[in-house]
Amino acid sequence: KATDSPEQPRITVLGTGYLGATHAVAMAELGFDVTGVDTDPHKVEALQAGKVPFFEPGLDTLLEKNLATGRLRFTTDVASAVAQGDVHFVCVGTPQQRTSHAADLRFVEAATTAIARHLTKDAVIVGKSTVPVGTAARLRGLVADQAPAGLDVELIWNPEFLREGKAVEDTLHPDRIVLGGASERAERVLRRVYAGPIAEGTPVVVTDLPTAELVKVSANAFLATKISFINAIAGVCEAAGADVTVLADALGHDKRIGRQFLDAGLGFGGGCLPKDIRALMHRANELGAYRASGLLQQVDEINMGQRERVVDMTLEACEGSVLNKRVGVLGAAFKPLTDDVRDSPALNVAAALHLRGAQVTVFDPEAGDTARRLFPTLAYATSAEEAVEGADVVLVLTEWDEFVEADPERLAALTQVPRVIDARGKLPVDRWRSAGWQFTGLGRLAA
Ligand code: NAD
Repeated sequence: KATDSPEQPRITVLGTGYLGATHAVAMAELGFDVTGVDTDPHKVEALQAGKVPFFEPGLDTLLEKNLATGRLRFTTDVASAVAQGDVHFVCVGTPQQRTSHAADLRFVEAATTAIARHLTKDAVIVGKSTVPVGTAARLRGLVADQAPAGLDVELIWNPEFLREGKAVEDTLHPDRIVLGGASERAERVLRRVYAGPIAEGTPVVVTDLPTAELVKVSANAFLATKISFINAIAGVCEAAGADVTVLADALGHDKRIGRQFLDAGLGFGGGCLPKDIRALMHRANELGAYRASGLLQQVDEINMGQRERVVDMTLEACEGSVLNKRVGVLGAAFKPLTDDVRDSPALNVAAALHLRGAQVTVFDPEAGDTARRLFPTLAYATSAEEAVEGADVVLVLTEWDEFVEADPERLAALTQVPRVIDARGKLPVDRWRSAGWQFTGLGRLAA
């Protein structure tokens, strides 16, 4: 007979990357006893020492604070962590497979199996990783095979919607909480875990497993579609002599549309949107839902096409060849306020120009180290000034405030030729033009 979890369930979090580290710290902040588990000993060592191994605003302070309370710890020892826990969150990665669009589920399977094997008491296993629809049902089979007999063990899905750069805020004050496949008991336990946000009015959507899995990927697919939509319209604007920035502002005033995710430019990247829409495309195809896969195929193509466009615009600016031209690249992270360079459009463009013989120098306020690890052959500067020094063309590829607020006159004086391609549409065009820059923006009229 199932026993209810204790009043304050003890929590384990498997996978302490961008999602899991934030989740573990946030759960401790909400007052729970939390053990974060990762297979990467460097990550665990850093976190246990109070250092967040990536850049996420506000997380380091909260990590230190909660380590000091004794409620939070990190380990590689999955067996002892799981043995003591009541609620086990699966926060491991689900990257794109190397050879197809499908998600690689090896880490989710390994983590779920490890939890199931090491259980010593009744438990709720809570999937938070983003997975293709149907995964959770399969994992339930794994749990049934691996968990010790006689225990009441449930696997439910509770997808995560946090945004990097705002991860702490999003975890403590989410827009909604989705619970998929929970029994009454599991729902009670999770409502206890999320009592803080629920008391603030966060809506809880209780549903089945496949709907919960699909809510997450559909949210990302919708956001990706919105970005590719405005980028497709930007192409029309350029051809027709219209300004996509003004157009987006005007569209955004319509409450049904909203201004967010309507910035024309280099398109989306990162560890989530690209791989999530591809995984959904793949899964929709498997399920015979070809309309969805066709739509997402277009969204992906439009998005990747923006990167090629910026490379072409750079070639054009340099009269057809970038061979031995100095290209100053401002931005490496896939968006501001993170050091995440997974599938970063900025680095993609920088690397493509490097391959064509350009001398590319990249500067990013936070992502220099992660970028260097991924693309060690590019040159990295320690300031925007250093990156634009002697440049034949400057590309603004990530819209950090530092670049938007930079003094265009000072930068112009450092270049060989004051020529800028604003691939994020955030620079104050008039200021840059009056500082002498030849200014090109996507979806905007050329100078
Ligand atoms: P990540 O690569 O930063 O972190 C994954 C972590 O899991 C790594 O530290 C890895 O060492 C660890 N790991 C792998 N196998 C393990 C195992 N068997 N046991 C314990 N740890 C293991 O990835 P992430 O960005 O945190 O994403 C994790 C999941 O969350 C993905 O499914 C992603 O789609 C989803 N998600 C991410 C975000 C985001 O903004 N990053 C937002 C919502 C959802």
